Amino acid sequence: MSREIHCPMGDGHLEADDDEQLLEKVRAHAAEAHPELTDEQIQQVMAGAHDSH
Ligand SMILES: [Zn+2]
Repeated sequence: MSREIHCPMGDGHLEADDDEQLLEKVRAHAAEAHPELTDEQIQQVMAGAHDSH
């Protein structure tokens, strides 16, 4: 079981083994694709993480 998130900006999804690694991926993706996102907004994105299936 892994964790995934759908980017709220609608450009794909990110997947990792656990929330900690997922946060790293979200941060890396945001830095590259959505540099306007604040840390607070990234935390809100993380709140939408769910188990992948
Ligand atoms: Zn994105």
